[in-house]
Amino acid sequence: MPDVLIVEDEEPLSLLLRYNLEAEGYRVEVCARGDDAEVRLKESQPDLLLLDWMLPGISGIELCRRLRARNETERIPIIMLTARGEESERIRGLSTGADDYVVKPFSIPELMARVRAILRRAKPESVSTQLKSGDIELDRETHRVRRDGQEIHLGPTEFRLLEFLMSAPGRVYSREQLLDGVWGHDVYVDERTVDVHVGRLRKAINRGSMKDPIRTVRGAGYAFNDQF
Ligand code: CA
Repeated sequence: MPDVLIVEDEEPLSLLLRYNLEAEGYRVEVCARGDDAEVRLKESQPDLLLLDWMLPGISGIELCRRLRARNETERIPIIMLTARGEESERIRGLSTGADDYVVKPFSIPELMARVRAILRRAKPESVSTQLKSGDIELDRETHRVRRDGQEIHLGPTEFRLLEFLMSAPGRVYSREQLLDGVWGHDVYVDERTVDVHVGRLRKAINRGSMKDPIRTVRGAGYAFNDQF
């Protein structure tokens, strides 16, 4: 289970990141100040650092520079979170040694994909590419889905929807949370779109007669049952 340290002073954003990372099984810690994070990083090193650019205490960029200058921390994978439209600063970000950067506001699915990609490079054994629940197997790398050993063909949205639901079995997601998690913040789609895609996903994975792993929770949304 990889450890992720989030250094971010905007609390709604760090909460959102924590929620999504924990749902994928990461252990998460949050620091709201650059100087606190520096002290924290002297104790032990996480597997990945999500580092905001503008922070109280010391800036993300300065912290990144200091981490790269020390033996114990020079190899921690770092994703910088930067504000939109700081092109020259972004380049500065990479030249100080960040592995990647994302521009706010970013989509959560995209950030999660980058987190997985970086951890896979840095620590291949820590990131599981397979999700399995009951007789359903999903491979994040090859985008293959099987049920009872038989391959199931899904459209890209149905695949992401199944991946999202399967990564936190039992958890009930509202339509709005599914829109954010699967489609991303920037896209405008109606909440009924979620129902349409859940319907297609059900049809594909249940093939008419198999037990339905997706539970409709009246007035709340959808969940993936861990036992079905
Ligand atoms: Ca900030």
